Amino acid sequence: MSQTLQAVRGMNDILPEEAAFWELFEETVRSWLKAYGYRPIRMPIVEPTPLFKRAIGEVTDIVEKEMYSFIDGLNGEALTLRPEGTAGCVRAVIEHNLAARQTQRLYYIGQMFRHERPQKGRYRQFHQVGVESFGIAGPDIDAEMILMGARLWNDLGLDGIELQINSLGQPAERALHRAALIAYFEAHAELLDDDAKRRLHSNPLRILDTKNPAMQELCAAAPKLIDYLGAESLAHFEGVQRVLRDAGVPFSINPRLVRGLDYYNQTVFEWVTDKLGAQGTVCAGGRYDGLVEQLGGKPTPACGFAMGVERLVALIKDSGGEPSAPVPDVYVVHQGDAAARLAFRVAEGLRDQGIDVLLHCGGGSFKSQMKKADGSGAVFAVIIGDDEALTGEAQLKPLRTADGVQQKLKVDDLAEAIIGQLIDLDEEE
Ligand code: ATP
Ligand code: MG
Repeated sequence: MSQTLQAVRGMNDILPEEAAFWELFEETVRSWLKAYGYRPIRMPIVEPTPLFKRAIGEVTDIVEKEMYSFIDGLNGEALTLRPEGTAGCVRAVIEHNLAARQTQRLYYIGQMFRHERPQKGRYRQFHQVGVESFGIAGPDIDAEMILMGARLWNDLGLDGIELQINSLGQPAERALHRAALIAYFEAHAELLDDDAKRRLHSNPLRILDTKNPAMQELCAAAPKLIDYLGAESLAHFEGVQRVLRDAGVPFSINPRLVRGLDYYNQTVFEWVTDKLGAQGTVCAGGRYDGLVEQLGGKPTPACGFAMGVERLVALIKDSGGEPSAPVPDVYVVHQGDAAARLAFRVAEGLRDQGIDVLLHCGGGSFKSQMKKADGSGAVFAVIIGDDEALTGEAQLKPLRTADGVQQKLKVDDLAEAIIGQLIDLDEEE
């Protein structure tokens, strides 16, 4: 016997019951994005490996240990399954010159791949909603992106998601802070773990991002970037906070919020919940003004965020949100060759009128077909036997009402009768 095949570890099938929650989530997200003027963009899942090395930074968790990289056996090209969407989005914006004449507000929804240790809320294939804006320099767009989060949690019926913000300032300010940080960590060299030792001179800011509990105290007392910000960066940060205060969105400033990717500057933010255990960040983002130029485009201010779909869907399920199960209006039951041909015509004709129809397929007795009709949750059965087929008629049988009478109707009159009774039922409810 051949061995049973299984999905790759950390990559999940999303079965219909679960997928209904995903669709509910995506519908809410799409109308929310539309309300803020965002337009969809779809990029490939595979990109050239150097794109991620340049965009995300060589000394980051993602590039150092999480990328699914491979050599295309046909042409030797170095490729990577995208670990995040911003790099590919920026590449597309540059390649198609999207930001040259106008600002852009873009979004995408899709798979990302990171070779991490699978656990609740952390997978090797996961999904993000990514939201990016190009060409807007002021703190207004940063603030609006943060407000968007608050509205979405509300639209999704979620509470207890808290906002943390920080400012990473500009590269020159970070350079000053970096020197102070290296001096501080060098003075406490005996407390550094291996990752920190390795990053001490290549990327000391990343040390603050550590998940190692033993390093928490040391990092908490480290020099704070905010103390190195100049007037302009402080004004930008204050501009963001003012909008948040005006909108009544509570936040806390977390000086250790430095984000896992190198490309950020100025505003960074995360939305965090304590309902998901260790994997509590459901949305994260910030400003990345240098990235477009760094990847070969014209200097273009930019800002964005990404949400973890698995984590948000888990929250929606925990909060008792229920997608409505799809129920057909009509289940078509039929027996005999002539009846089967008429059944197809009837089903398509009803769908033309906007009625949802499950056409019985696979034969079987009337009795077993009626059982399936009942089990489907349909409001009506349409029953066609060879007698009806001869006269171009069908039986319309209500399945949800105790007092419903079965009627014999011309097939051309079915749609009107069904729509009329559906409206009556709606009004009764
Ligand atoms: P973490 O600190 O949890 O590793 P990160 O900083 O690596 O997160 P980002 O790159 O900012 O995450 O991705 C944005 C969001 O995508 C995260 O806040 C999270 O909700 C989600 N996410 C990231 N990695 C995973 C994963 N492996 N599985 C599921 N969701 C993920
Ligand atoms: Mg990570």
